[in-house]
Amino acid sequence: MADFTTPARLSGRIEARLREIDDAGLRRTLRPPHGIDLSSNDYLGLARDPRVCSALAGAAMIEGTGSTGSRLLRGDRHCFAAVELAFAQFKKTASSLYFSTGWAANLSVLSVYAEADDVIFSDEKNHASLIDGMRLSRARRVVYRHADVDHLRELLSSERCKGQKFVVTESLFSMDGDAPDLEAIAALCREEDAALIVDEAHAVGVYGARGSGMIEECGVESGVFLSVNTAGKALGVAGAFVAGDVHAIDYLVQRARPFIFSTAPPPPVAAAIDEALRIVEGEPARRATLRAKALRLRALLDEHATPALPGTSQILGIVIGENEATMRVAEELQRRGFDVRGVRPPTVPPGTSRLRVSVNLAVSDADLERFASELGSVRRELNA
Ligand SMILES: *Cc1c(COP(=O)(O)O)cnc(C)c1O
Repeated sequence: MADFTTPARLSGRIEARLREIDDAGLRRTLRPPHGIDLSSNDYLGLARDPRVCSALAGAAMIEGTGSTGSRLLRGDRHCFAAVELAFAQFKKTASSLYFSTGWAANLSVLSVYAEADDVIFSDEKNHASLIDGMRLSRARRVVYRHADVDHLRELLSSERCKGQKFVVTESLFSMDGDAPDLEAIAALCREEDAALIVDEAHAVGVYGARGSGMIEECGVESGVFLSVNTAGKALGVAGAFVAGDVHAIDYLVQRARPFIFSTAPPPPVAAAIDEALRIVEGEPARRATLRAKALRLRALLDEHATPALPGTSQILGIVIGENEATMRVAEELQRRGFDVRGVRPPTVPPGTSRLRVSVNLAVSDADLERFASELGSVRRELNA
């Protein structure tokens, strides 16, 4: 039946590796949405907003589906420059550049600017895309304890660096749902003349008076070198914007390999993002309601003796510990109609497997109540 053949030695090795994954309780499986959404990053419900959908559909009829080339060849369109301008204004920066994924944006940002004599100081819980970007760069990487500003200060002064120092952090951590003290980090970077890179993946659309993210919320715009902002989470579409000054962004166009050697995103997504930005700015009640719902769920979980990790955000990490127990709890909740997912190493540190629960506007308060109570009983029943 199969026309393709895996050489016998390789086939044996793949099977052995898969067994190792099974034995460690780390087998990953694909599972389409089913039940009440407590796991997507569509925090504001924009992925199904009719206005965003029709902006996308309308643009598709005019622009077509594919961009047909790299931005530097025939793949460029006026709608990309327009949405980049809109995003820069949203972020209050001089310029921005749109990438097809946040992953590609982070690979680019971490590998383009840092050179051989430079040092990148990185939070130990930074996202895999930031870590891989650092791996591609020639700079040395120094890891500081999670959100620990004192540790960062210590390392910034003790680590030898002949070149430029960079500090990279998420502004809302994707698996713990906590936020670092961005003001203190920005102040420290200023003292040390370090360039601060902030990954706003889970904060953009949710934080800040205009919804532009945690940088706005903390008022640290002038202390940040670059921010990376995914459009596939609260903005409900896809891709990511790197925002910063004109030279820095122009340098990305010259050097970022994931930008240069990749087909530009489908042009209609630019129209959809434009519409999503308009909604985010124009409807602040969405983020207020989201944040109230998140606090409500946190309080309910406390009541049912299954608290989330400390924080106030829409991302709640509920640590179970063991890999298998975590997946059993997740499966039982799925059976009861809740789409919650377990997260295991290497996404999170060993021994801290957890449910990563995220709140979005479509979940009713009654559902949150039922979820907290069912989670409490499932954990008691399964002794997890
Ligand atoms: C999701 C995520 C990314 C990657 O963004 P994509 O657009 O999904 O590729 C980068 N950083 C963080 C912190 C994320 O959570």
